[in-house]
Amino acid sequence: MYDVMSSKAEEFISDEEIRDCLDYAKKNKTNGELIDQILTKAKEMKGITHREALVLLDCELEDKNEEIYKLAKEIKQEFYGNRIVMFAPLYLSNYCINGCEYCPYHAKNKHIRRKKLSQEEIKAEVIALQDMGHKRLALEAGEDPKNNPIEYILESIKTIYGIHHKNGDIRRVNVNIAATTVEEYRMLKDAGIGTYILFQETYNKESYEKLHPTGPKSDYAYHTEAMDRAMDGGIDDVGLGVLYGLNNYRYDFTGIIMHAEHLEAAKGCGPHTISVPRLRRADDIDPDTFDNGISDDLFAKIVACLRIAVPYTGMIVSTRESKECRERVLELGISQISGGSKTSVGGYVSPEPEEENSAQFDVSDNRTLDEVVKWLMEMDYVPSFCTACYREGRTGDRFMSLLKSKQIVNCCHPNALMTLKEYLEDYASLETKEVGEKLIEKELEVVTNPKVRQIAKDYIDQIHEGKRDFRF
Ligand code: SF4
Ligand code: SF4
Repeated sequence: MYDVMSSKAEEFISDEEIRDCLDYAKKNKTNGELIDQILTKAKEMKGITHREALVLLDCELEDKNEEIYKLAKEIKQEFYGNRIVMFAPLYLSNYCINGCEYCPYHAKNKHIRRKKLSQEEIKAEVIALQDMGHKRLALEAGEDPKNNPIEYILESIKTIYGIHHKNGDIRRVNVNIAATTVEEYRMLKDAGIGTYILFQETYNKESYEKLHPTGPKSDYAYHTEAMDRAMDGGIDDVGLGVLYGLNNYRYDFTGIIMHAEHLEAAKGCGPHTISVPRLRRADDIDPDTFDNGISDDLFAKIVACLRIAVPYTGMIVSTRESKECRERVLELGISQISGGSKTSVGGYVSPEPEEENSAQFDVSDNRTLDEVVKWLMEMDYVPSFCTACYREGRTGDRFMSLLKSKQIVNCCHPNALMTLKEYLEDYASLETKEVGEKLIEKELEVVTNPKVRQIAKDYIDQIHEGKRDFRF
C-alpha cells in the first residue's frame, strides 16, 4: 500500500503505485489536454508529482516536448542561473564485500588491484586536487567493515579538512559510503560532512535483489531507508541517484521522484541533489550485458523532466558523460559537474598505466579542470567553487528557503564570481584567466542588489591582492 509518510521502503516506494503510474503514463502519452494541465502546474515552478512527471517523460507529442524542454531551461535559469558548481571525486578504497554486478569493485573480482589510501597518501591526493583548484570533494569508498570502517572514513575527513597547501583548501567534503546506522550518520555529521550521497541504483526490488546477490547491500529495505536514517542522524543534505541502464528507466525515474517526495513529506526537506549516472564500461563490466541502456536523447529528456519535477534539487552529472552530452544537459537542468576526475584509488598522484584498469568506471570526459572551466566560460556559464551555504550553516530546509526566496542571485552569484576569481588567480592557465576576467566583469552586473554588487567588487579586488575566502 502506497504511503508517502511511511518509514518502510516498500510503502514509500510502492511497486503497485509505480506500476499504476507506468500504465497511466503509457495511456496518456498523446493526451494533449492532460499534458497541458500538467505543464500549466509545472510553470508555477513548485514541482509536480511523480505521476505527472512520468506523463511528461512519456509524452510523444512533438510540440509539447518542445514546451517541456523550454520550461526545463527556464526553471534551470530561474533557480540556478548560469552557475555550475564544480567538484571532484576522491576514491579512498576499493575494498568491498558486496556483490554488485555492475561495479568492478565487487568482491568476486579477484584480478582488480585492491588499494586503500593511507593518511599520507590521502594528503598527497588532496594536495594534487588543491593544486588543480578544487574546493569540494566527493569521497568514495567500498563497503568493507575491516578495511574501511567508519573510523577510517572519519580520520580521512579530518585529514582532508586539515590540508592547506599554498592557497588551497577543501571546504566541503561530501561522502558516498554504504548505507549505515543512525549512530554512524551522526558521526559523519559531527565530522562536518556536506552531502551524504547514496545511489539507490534501482528502485525495483526484484531487479535490485538480482543485481546485489551478496553482501550487506543486498538488503533492499535497509539500503532504501538509509536516507531516513541519515536525516535522523542530523545530516540535512542528502544526495540521491539511480544508475540508468540497470533497470527500466521509467520505473526508476518514478521511484526517485517518489523518494524525494517521501523525504520532503516525512523529514521536512527533499534531497539536496540528484545524480544521473549512466552505466559505463569498466574492468569486468560490460554495459551491453545489461539491456536497459538509454540513448542520449532519452537521457536529456530524463534530465529535463527531473528539473521540472524537483526544481529545488541540484542535479549532478559526472565525467561518465562525454563533453557533448554534458553540454546538452547543462542547459536542461544540471547544476553541478565534476572536472579532471580520476576514478581509481590514488589516481590523482599516480595515474594508472593503460594495461591496468582499476577505475570504478571509464571516464568519457578526460579533460583537465582548467579545460573544463574554460569550456564552461566560453559557453557563458560561471564555474563556481562556492561552498558558502554549508559553511554558513545554510543546509537542509534553511538552504531550501534561500532557494525558494529567489534571492539566490544576490548570494550564489557573487559567491560564484569570487570563488572563480580565486581559481583564476591561483590555478588557471593564462588563456583561461583571460576568458574568466572578462566573464567576471560582465557577470557582476547580473547581481541585482547594488550594495551586494559593490561589496562583491571590493572582495574581488582584495582577492587580486592576495586575500582569500570571502563569502555571502
Ligand atoms: Fe562495492 Fe559500491 Fe561497487 Fe557495490 S557499487 S561493489 S558497494 S563499491
Ligand atoms: Fe551553493 Fe550556497 Fe554557494 Fe549558492 S551560495 S552556490 S547554494 S553553496
